[in-house]
Amino acid sequence: MAVQAAERDGINVESDDNLNDSLAPGLISPDKDISRLLTVPFSGRIRGGMRPGKKIIVMGIVDLEPTSFDVSLTCGRGTEKEPLHDVALKLTARFAGRQFVRNARISGKWTQEEASTDYFPFIPDQPFRISNPDEFDVMMTIPLDRVDLQPFGDDGAFYSVALKRGESSLKRFMQEEDNTLSAYGMLKEFREEVKKCVKMMKDVEMEKKKIGCPAVTLTIKGVGPVPISLDVVLGIEVRTSWPAEFTKDGFQIDDWLGKKVKQQHMRKPYYLVPKHEGRAMAERDGVLAKDVWRISFSHVEKEIVKNHGSEKTCCEDGKIRCCRKGCLKLLKHMLGLLKEEDSSFAKFCSYHAKTTFFHTCCSRNKDSDWEASRLSHCFLMLLEDFEGHLRDSKLPNFFIPTQNLLSGPSNRSCTSLARRIKEERESGFPIFLK
Ligand SMILES: [Zn+2]
Repeated sequence: MAVQAAERDGINVESDDNLNDSLAPGLISPDKDISRLLTVPFSGRIRGGMRPGKKIIVMGIVDLEPTSFDVSLTCGRGTEKEPLHDVALKLTARFAGRQFVRNARISGKWTQEEASTDYFPFIPDQPFRISNPDEFDVMMTIPLDRVDLQPFGDDGAFYSVALKRGESSLKRFMQEEDNTLSAYGMLKEFREEVKKCVKMMKDVEMEKKKIGCPAVTLTIKGVGPVPISLDVVLGIEVRTSWPAEFTKDGFQIDDWLGKKVKQQHMRKPYYLVPKHEGRAMAERDGVLAKDVWRISFSHVEKEIVKNHGSEKTCCEDGKIRCCRKGCLKLLKHMLGLLKEEDSSFAKFCSYHAKTTFFHTCCSRNKDSDWEASRLSHCFLMLLEDFEGHLRDSKLPNFFIPTQNLLSGPSNRSCTSLARRIKEERESGFPIFLK
């Protein structure tokens, strides 16, 4: 396909509000305005025009509930009244039929759509760069009504779980002395069961056990140009009220989402995953660390990210839109890039970004604090909060405030990450343009 290499040639990214952050490095003039980088439709020039061997990379983050988005390579810019006569290449991702199609417009006529890719690489709510492998998470849960939870350690994040009276299919995992469920034993059997299933499947492999990881990771090949990574996590669904002692000061969403929403969430079950910290054989009150469970509210987190407005109308009626989700995605994306660049940041994870986001949502609790048009301002505020947590080495778990999520990484690495983020902030985020 011949592309005229003229200064006014460009690239356009459009979406039905589904691609809310688009980054097209190399196309943007260095005006350092992040909000311009992140708005769709995005349109930018290809500096120096196209030539054989020149590569264009478009990065973005797909919305949580997408329908479609497209990327066009054009000669000049059209208007609504006078659409472009020529579009050298138009790529369209349609989520309903999982289609990724190509076509072109020559002298005002669209060519037939080509749809020869049998692989659809885009996932809702995930950043994409077409060469990246895909990653998925699933939790397989066992519901339990009658359990007795005892905190393990004093931060309220880890528990031993004892079954109350009655017959249970989990009896064989109970330890004789105190009826506690062995997280180690259950995870071991879970892995073995998954292994048996995997043996029967073609093109699916199980990754080696990662110490201290509650997930079994599967690699699925043969479904496209890149393997898919699937994390299967074992979870216990506890259908009793949240552990009051540790959750009573957490989840402070009253002024943000309201008391009613808070109560609705607190009536829901919570989850426990087989995960401990530190040495597996460390013992407290007769319980070994390897047999304890970490509490998880991931279902509530997902829900409040989705329904994040102080008013019911935020991002729901098509009129009022905010930039909360955009800010969170940017922070996660930025942390991911910083981790790629410097392995000493390995202990930081997207959960640190998400928790910071929840705290910031509570302090800036009105929809008007997050107007869509003020994304760059709001992102800077969120970043400053994150830097503050890092400088203090203190980030309380949003649900269990007694747990400091920054107690793992050293003070030195917290400070060094804060410094690195400040550098980026002050120089117009070169990391997004690499
Ligand atoms: Zn919103």
